[in-house]
Amino acid sequence: MALLTVTDALDQILGDVAVADIENVSLHNATARVLARDLKASRNQPPFRSSAMDGYAIRADNVRELPTKLQIIGEAAAGYFFPDALHNWEAVRIFTGAPVPEGADTVVMQEKTERDGAFVSILEAVTKGSNIRDCGQDFKKDDILLKRGTELTYRHLALAAAMNHAVLPVYRRPVIAILSTGDELVLPGETPSDSQIIAANNFAIASYAQTIGADIMDLGIARDDMTEIATTIEKAVAARVDCLVTIGGVSVGDHDLVQEALKKAGMDLKFWRIAMRPGKPLLAGKLGNTHVLGLPGNPVSSMTCALLFLQPMIRKMLGKDTPYEIRQAISGHALPANDHRQSYMRARTHMDEAGRTVASLFSDQDSSKMASFAQADCLIVRPANAPASEAGAPCQILSL
Ligand code: AMP
Ligand code: MG
Repeated sequence: MALLTVTDALDQILGDVAVADIENVSLHNATARVLARDLKASRNQPPFRSSAMDGYAIRADNVRELPTKLQIIGEAAAGYFFPDALHNWEAVRIFTGAPVPEGADTVVMQEKTERDGAFVSILEAVTKGSNIRDCGQDFKKDDILLKRGTELTYRHLALAAAMNHAVLPVYRRPVIAILSTGDELVLPGETPSDSQIIAANNFAIASYAQTIGADIMDLGIARDDMTEIATTIEKAVAARVDCLVTIGGVSVGDHDLVQEALKKAGMDLKFWRIAMRPGKPLLAGKLGNTHVLGLPGNPVSSMTCALLFLQPMIRKMLGKDTPYEIRQAISGHALPANDHRQSYMRARTHMDEAGRTVASLFSDQDSSKMASFAQADCLIVRPANAPASEAGAPCQILSL
């Protein structure tokens, strides 16, 4: 039977992924969260005509010759309305952000004046209306300024605060449980026996999931033992996590027990094995309401599958429709013809003299090699059955 394509596999995974529910968080807790509703301004900004400078509020028509001497009738500070109206030949000492007094139409910068007790001389010509910020010139009441789906940064939070929103509706961060499997694995910092290696993928997947906007539940390392794997799967189910990601143990070896353990726990299998390189043994299913992704153990396969399948899942839970972005580049090397499996090849990009992005392939694409994955900055995407191509030919890349 032909293996499922990457696109079909993604469709099957995303088919029943629902958007996470909405929670309200304070501004201080909203960084990098995804806005779950459009946000309207509840007031005008600025809410009144305000001064853009420290200087003097005047009437421009009064300045017919230079210098013009005006009488200072008081002071307008930020936070207070000036109680009186300004008349001809009068000036009000004013500060940045203060409401402009009624009757004034211009603010003259302090630097263009000279004060003499209760009088001020205007030394330079003025343009009517200058240095005044009109009411609502930044934004108006009921303007929708932040759209649902916005990933909130300091810039958005400044705006939300100015719009007078103290709490923001955001999508709950999905919880991703991560289970590593393998007798050969020990945690970093522990002392491995000569036949063991250090577990690495679980840290990659955890960090990656957090970067995209999820929280993680670290289930540690289960030995290649049915009971131990089953017990750990139960923990994830009991915690009602959004997705259980397993690492390793999904190939065809005698010690690959994850699929059987998941099925015993009641998982409905969506698929196992797809037409992809690296990452062929990928498994997907559903355990009650928990999505299950069984990632292959080889580090590059694991991380590539996370990029292609876990990322879109989390993004969809956070209300985003685009799974990831494929860009056009120029291949720095000749590429061999591809077989029936869509390939993702480690490469590094640079800009050529013409300003084009050139992606240069790493010579060794072994899926166990983490060093080159860390050095790469993109994956060249080779569609199934792509013909051989020359150096300099267009190619598609997926940014890492
Ligand atoms: P498996 O899919 O369990 O046969 O694992 C394939 C390869 O990936 C083996 O060489 C494992 O030792 C390795 N591997 C599995 N899990 C991890 C992990 N968490 N970190 C690093 N390597 C791993
Ligand atoms: Mg294993």
